[in-house]
Amino acid sequence: MTTAIYPGSFDPITNGHLDIITRAARLFEKLIVGIYDRPDKVLLFTTEERLALVKQAVSTIPNAEARVFSGMTASFAKEVKAQTIVRGLRMSADFEKEFDLAMMNKKLFPEIELICLMSDLKYQFLSSSLLKEAAILGGDVDDLVPKPVAVALRKKAHSKM
Ligand code: ADP
Repeated sequence: MTTAIYPGSFDPITNGHLDIITRAARLFEKLIVGIYDRPDKVLLFTTEERLALVKQAVSTIPNAEARVFSGMTASFAKEVKAQTIVRGLRMSADFEKEFDLAMMNKKLFPEIELICLMSDLKYQFLSSSLLKEAAILGGDVDDLVPKPVAVALRKKAHSKM
């Protein structure tokens, strides 16, 4: 079976992520969206909240599932028997970071392939961090995220007031 993982913070999942998930799910028999459990990183949503939001977002994609992981991404790939790591590339910011990551992964885990899918033009400038900033300041981000994420962002914005 061809299996891939799509790892990320997903704090929170956006329509840009979902576009990559939808397209990657067409390329592999199984796609596991891996949510980093990173206690060292300050995130807006807890691991459980991020998992729940990703689960809802992928519920209509039969061969996609959401799982939490910690430690090295390539180790997680091996654990779930994935041969490929999928990442999304936006126009400028992502290339160098992804290239470095790919080189390190290739050195440590040569059997695992990393593929990058180009972000759709309409999501090129969409990032979870910008989105959070806008939402917390009361901006309308509804058409950039799945509906449950918009609701969750509104709740967070209220709790921060
Ligand atoms: P990370 O902390 O690993 O960067 P993110 O949740 O920010 O986690 O992103 C996960 C993956 O999705 C990364 O490969 C990132 O480049 C990609 N990504 C983020 N936003 C978009 C977007 N708008 N379009 C396509 N890919 C994206």
